[in-house]
This record gives sequence, C-alpha cells and structure tokens, in this order.
Amino acid sequence: MSRHFILALDQGTTSSRSILFDAEGGMAAVAQREFRQHYPQPGWVEHDPVEIWASQLATAKEVLAKANASPGDVAAIGITNQRETTVVWDRRTGEPIYNAIVWQCRRTTDTCEAIQARGLADEFQRRTGLVVDAYFSGTKVKWILDHVPGARARAARGELCFGTIDSWLLYKLTGVHATDYSNASRTLLFNIHERQWDPTLLGELAVPAEMLPEARPSSQVYGSTGVLGGNIPVASLVGDQQGALFGQAAFHPSDCKNTYGTGCFLLMNTGETPIASKNGLLTTIAWGLDGKIEYALEGSVFVGGAVIQWLRDGLKLIGSAAESEAVAREVEDAGGVHIVPAFVGLGAPYWDMRARGTISGLTRGAGRAHLVRAALESIAFQSADVVRTMEADTGARIPQLRVDGGAAANNLLMQTQADLLNTPVVLGQVIETTALGAAFLAGLAVGFWPNLESIGKIWKVDRIFEPVWDAGKRAAALAGWEDAVRRTTSSAE
Ligand code: ADP
Repeated sequence: MSRHFILALDQGTTSSRSILFDAEGGMAAVAQREFRQHYPQPGWVEHDPVEIWASQLATAKEVLAKANASPGDVAAIGITNQRETTVVWDRRTGEPIYNAIVWQCRRTTDTCEAIQARGLADEFQRRTGLVVDAYFSGTKVKWILDHVPGARARAARGELCFGTIDSWLLYKLTGVHATDYSNASRTLLFNIHERQWDPTLLGELAVPAEMLPEARPSSQVYGSTGVLGGNIPVASLVGDQQGALFGQAAFHPSDCKNTYGTGCFLLMNTGETPIASKNGLLTTIAWGLDGKIEYALEGSVFVGGAVIQWLRDGLKLIGSAAESEAVAREVEDAGGVHIVPAFVGLGAPYWDMRARGTISGLTRGAGRAHLVRAALESIAFQSADVVRTMEADTGARIPQLRVDGGAAANNLLMQTQADLLNTPVVLGQVIETTALGAAFLAGLAVGFWPNLESIGKIWKVDRIFEPVWDAGKRAAALAGWEDAVRRTTSSAE
C-alpha cells in the first residue's frame, strides 16, 4: 500500500497534539488534548510523564480516525517537543521515578548560582552554548538524583534512563533510548562542538553517563512502533523551536524566524559554524541532517503576546487579543507613548533582570488606542532588538524574517516589524510550523520527500509585509524606543 501521510507528534507545554501531513505539506487532520499542570510549590512546575504519554497516544489514534487513515497510510512519525523538560524513568519497567520537571520550573536556581559562584559559568557556556540557568535540563536531573532515595546509585548501575520529552516518547513508542542533537543541546550536559555528552560537565553535576540517551541526528529511523496497529518508523526528533525553524524552510545561514506567542522565540540559522554570542544569546544545535550538524543563534522576548493579554485581563482595554489590531488602527501612531513590558526584567541585549515595566511619553491627548498601539509596537521593538543583536554577533544581515505563532495573525504588528527592521516579514501558508518541521525531518529520513529542494518548494508564502518607512522615520522610532528602555533600566533615576 502506498503511504500518504507523515504523522507529527507535537508535545507542548500545555497540550499534546498530533497532525497528519500529506505530501504537499497540507494538514489532513489535527487532534489535541490538554493535560494537567502541577505546581507543588511557588516557582515549581511539574508534569506527569504518564499523562503526557497517554494524551499523546490518544491524539495519535484520534487523528488517524479523523482522517479515516490506517497505520499503513503513515510513512513515518516525527516528534517535536517542549524542550528542556526532564524525565527520569526505570529502564526495565518504563515507570518514571519522579514527575517531569518542566522547563519553567525554578527549583534549581540555587544550584545554578552555586555553579556561577565557583566561576564555572564561562566553562559551561563555552562547551554547551548556554548560560547556566534553571531553565535547562542538567540541574533538573541532578535535583531528581539528589532527592529520590537511591536514585543516583541506581543510575550509576544503568537501571535508570534520563531523557527530555522526545526521548520519553521515543522510549514509549519503540523501547529505544535516544535523543537528537537539537534536544541534547538544551541540557547543559552536551558539548555542542564535540557533539557528545561532556564528561567534565557530567562530573560537575554528578550525573552518571550510564543514564544518558544516545545522541543522534534529528532525521533518521530511530526504531519502529506498533502502538497504533501496524509498524511505523519513528524518523525524527527535534526540539520545538528548532522544528519551527526547519518548518519555515530556513535551511541557509542567516535565515531567521520569529514565533510570536506568549513570549517570542527568534532563531537564526548560522550553518555549520557555532557562533558564540557577545550579547548573551544562546548558541544551539538546529538539527543534525545528512551527516552534518547545523547551528543556530537563539534569543527570546520574555513578554511578547503576553502584553496583549495584559491589556485584555489587567487593564481591560480590549475584549480580545484580536481586537488589539482594530483599536490600534484608530490612531495613526502611538503619539509618543511607549510601553516597555519589562514585567520580568529586560532580556537581550540589555540583560537587566531587576528592570520593571514602564509607560512613558504620556500627554493629555493619550488615549486607549495609543496605549494599545504602543503595546503592539513593544512586541516589534523587542523582536527588532534581538534581530539586531543577532546581526551584530554574526556580522550578517537577515534577508527576511519568517514568522509564525498566535500574534503573527496581527497585520499591523507584522507591518510594524517589517518597518522597524527594514526587512520583509514573511508569513507562510502553514501556521503549524513546529509540527511541519518534525514532519519534514521524518519524511526526509524515509524518502517521503527526496531532498531539501523538494521541501523548499512545498513551503509557500501566504503574505509578505514589505517595509515602507524611510530611514528618517525608522531612526526616529528606534531612538524613541531606546529612550524609553533607558527610563526602564534598574539604574534609571
Ligand atoms: P503560546 O503558544 O505561547 O500559548 P500562541 O502562539 O497560541 O502562544 O499565541 C498566543 C499569544 O498571542 C497570546 O499572548 C495572545 O495575547 C497573542 N495574540 C493572539 N492573537 C493576537 C492578535 N490578533 N494580535 C496580537 N496578539 C495576539
């Protein structure tokens, strides 16, 4: 029987989804299930790995039923996942020994501060491309080994497996204990230059090598699964943001994407060269494909679409996120008003964690529409700051910015982004770029698509926002933003 579909499993922070893609990259069906968030203490976040697996499996079955497809119609499964979230399970029984510690969880902040106090942060950064932060997996594994009785000894005997969510799902599907380079590069344990687990860092965090998954390329047959009925190869693993970069067909150095969600995630492809940022951006493995590893620079905006949620829920200025566009269009510009939504500090390139948000430039004429417009503009200004930082770190200019995520539906925001960057902003036809990236990588591994060129043709433009501002207008806008940011920094009077 000919196989018509690739099944992408998209395991996110709040829901598990399954999407069936056809050979043209079209979505034949989607299924989604939310699962529980656990907050055992302030600042702690956990998921139940068994519930994650059950919800993911249920959506996979559901999506096949919706498309009236059988396992025999599926050429391969690709997996993309919330990154950094850490699971430790019993190798023999497949039972987790503790809940998954989620990327958002701050419980290991003290461990990270101790590493920094010992002057080891530069060493970790040089080897992993990351900053020492509770966000990444390494200190989370250490926490589980330190707190579950007997765990470290069992791990050293090879009785336990560590994995991020990609590994956990792969293990449940196939019994294979592996991960891909993109996920491994988010653990704080993986040397991104030597492409292997780093014995020095494992020693620092007291994580036994016996519990680590085998790190492999992102596009290959890892094993096959019978859980859906017939045998289906599992042929890709990729972290969600790297998956989105691939799903945007950003295959070449300087190609860049921005995902506008609650926060914004910008990734720039830097090809086969890992570039160390001088401005606090992360260096990460984008994917391993065709015997090569490609790297990316990554930067994020902590408060992106969340500033629109704040307008809606905090200030009650708008009834829905979508309404922000019409309200902002009631005025020509923000009338000199700036909102700097430094609710949790300022990220790249300012790195001021004590800064808190400001509204500045208020006059008697400032009204609701000016505030809404200023909030939308703040998303574009912050993203432009990260893009300019990437350009400074690489010495390259991005040819265009490919965009996705919920707030990319806002045309005014996208136009403002193009104007601020003086670069076209490009919206693709498939908005589920993360899942599409996993599907592309799986499809390449099994010959469903022959090569990158064929995928490049599948990726199609929906809309291009061309910059229209002249240089003077752009310079004035950027100067106004910089001034507003200066007033926001913790050292401002
Ligand atoms: P996440 O994956 O982080 O949950 P989504 O990609 O679903 O995020 O995007 C949701 C975010 O986008 C919310 O913060 C919301 O405020 C914002 N958003 C959604 N639609 C719009 C819109 N039309 N204009 C501006 N912001 C929007």
